[in-house]
Amino acid sequence: MKTAIVTGAARGIGLATTRQFLDQGWQVVMIDRDEPALNDAALGLMNVDPITCDVSQPDQVANMAATLRSGGTSIDALVNNAGVAEFGPIAETDFETWRKVMETNLDGIFLMSQALRESLCAAQGAIVNIASISGLRASTLRVAYGTSKAAVIQLTRQQAVELGEFGVRANCVCPGPVDTKLALAVHTPEIRAAYHDAIPLNRYGTEDEIAAMITFLCSPSASYVTGQVIAVDGGFEATGVGLPALR
Ligand code: NAD
Repeated sequence: MKTAIVTGAARGIGLATTRQFLDQGWQVVMIDRDEPALNDAALGLMNVDPITCDVSQPDQVANMAATLRSGGTSIDALVNNAGVAEFGPIAETDFETWRKVMETNLDGIFLMSQALRESLCAAQGAIVNIASISGLRASTLRVAYGTSKAAVIQLTRQQAVELGEFGVRANCVCPGPVDTKLALAVHTPEIRAAYHDAIPLNRYGTEDEIAAMITFLCSPSASYVTGQVIAVDGGFEATGVGLPALR
């Protein structure tokens, strides 16, 4: 049975991805720092191993990796999905907020991928990093979030180029807006309406629509795909100029 490691697996896109891997016959190591939510989510799921770990903390990541190594877990896929969103103008983004975003969204992916590199190489596994349309297009209020996600895109390319010779593929998924706790916390009704207007498919995506791309990229069907950045965004990234007056 193949094994996927999914971070931020307690809810949202990470939990949907976990369920799709299970449906496709994989086993999943579910990682999250929210222990009660993680244990709740894992309850009733077969073939999962929940591990509480904050991916932004080097010691916790090292311990988690040592546990997996000692258990002889082969790692066929690593989905770096854990992320946080803090939106605000440059003037009001203090260094603490900046670091809070960077340490999970960027440091976490670096630490997890580095800690599990040997097992990924041994299994010729796949890495899928979750960025965002905010890493592809700039907007107000996203100085920390957008910059962290743009860095995730470049980190993915670095991983693809360096780990390709070991048979490891690395790709990046950039979701458009999806109704999860993360989005509900930062999307006002006005922002929701504006997204519906600006997205060619005129709606938010679902957790399952993002998970489907993630699991595809980890599957043998994507065996020659690496170093790619794929927006799953209802066409938002394609809109370019996109002025309402041009419609
Ligand atoms: P969510 O807030 O619903 O779930 C995120 C999970 O990650 C939570 O369970 C949380 O406890 C966990 N987590 C956060 N920081 C962690 C850390 N340091 N260590 C371990 N676990 C941690 O979020 P979501 O909407 O499912 O988002 C998943 C990913 O998709 C994120 O990277 C997010 O930036 C990205 N994304 C989401 C949207 C959206 O609209 N929801 C859009 C674009 C990108």
